Amino acid sequence: MHIRACRESSPSESVSESAVDREVQKSSTALTTAPAGYLVEPRMITVGSETEEFCETEQVRCSACGYTAETRLDTILIPSTRGLKPWKRCSACQAYFLVESYMPRQEVTHTEKTSWGKSDTGKELNRFKKRMFLSVIRLLKRYCPPPASLLDVGCSYGGFLMEASKAGYEVRGFDIVPEAVKYVNSQGIPAEMSFSISELDSVDDSSLDVVTCLDCNYYWPDQISELSNAYAKLKPGGYLVMRVVDKSWLLSFGLSLRKLSGKAGERVIRAAVNDHRFAMPLRSLLKVIRKRGFEVEYASPRGALHSDQTRPLVKLSFAFGTALWEAGRLVFLAPAALILATKPR
Ligand SMILES: [Zn+2]
Repeated sequence: MHIRACRESSPSESVSESAVDREVQKSSTALTTAPAGYLVEPRMITVGSETEEFCETEQVRCSACGYTAETRLDTILIPSTRGLKPWKRCSACQAYFLVESYMPRQEVTHTEKTSWGKSDTGKELNRFKKRMFLSVIRLLKRYCPPPASLLDVGCSYGGFLMEASKAGYEVRGFDIVPEAVKYVNSQGIPAEMSFSISELDSVDDSSLDVVTCLDCNYYWPDQISELSNAYAKLKPGGYLVMRVVDKSWLLSFGLSLRKLSGKAGERVIRAAVNDHRFAMPLRSLLKVIRKRGFEVEYASPRGALHSDQTRPLVKLSFAFGTALWEAGRLVFLAPAALILATKPR
């Protein structure tokens, strides 16, 4: 099996009436020139019994923190639902990140095959994640009670938007999956197809009270830009709320385990990565959020559990990870966290 990980040339999208094509055209320049680095020199690397061909990189920009490595970073081949792909570990923020240009059309096709991208399972997830949605609303009400304007980034089939609307917020959302956007609109909630907050022409700068990004930042090709875009759209005193996965610790464990037991290690790695584009330590993410100008008011695994039906082992990890984090905010070993940050007045 061979993997070509070379930078692909910018796609020349043909003119089409479809929503995907229109959004791809809007996004192609901004997104494909973003963070994946400049890839040259194909060479071979062997992991276990498989030999892979990949392209070495001269410079690679970390999609999690924006740092461009001055020296070459080791390539780590990581298996996920995206296939066996080259990743790097950022020396600045310690995030692992996928080295692959962001291709908008491919990202839509990929997402449409996931449980949150398909219509039937996407709507089921609305119900499954209700516990987490209500936790986010409870947290938000402490800082920014309704009525308040709220934009949900990567709204999927609108589960959070519907709960926030019931709670009294004036909601709108966007997503990259056309079917999801259509469904949200059918529920009487404004939503549009977009790849980035910056492309929402209908949302003025400094106009929103709240931007929510629940389970979506690790798909962004350039987290720094998107956090800046969220900052720009918020009013002074507005709030950014994120549910983020941090399984970077589990990925580190899986990579060590793979050296001892290939199959066991790969199972852990796949559980840690899912189909994400980066795995960033929470403490690094909080630094990045503060660097964008936000003040972090809340950051904890508490409230980030999706459902009462979540698997017992994951629940245990949340309970243990929450206790550990809240003991001193030094060690993060939970699967995910909620973050609430404010744009200073
Ligand atoms: Zn980084």
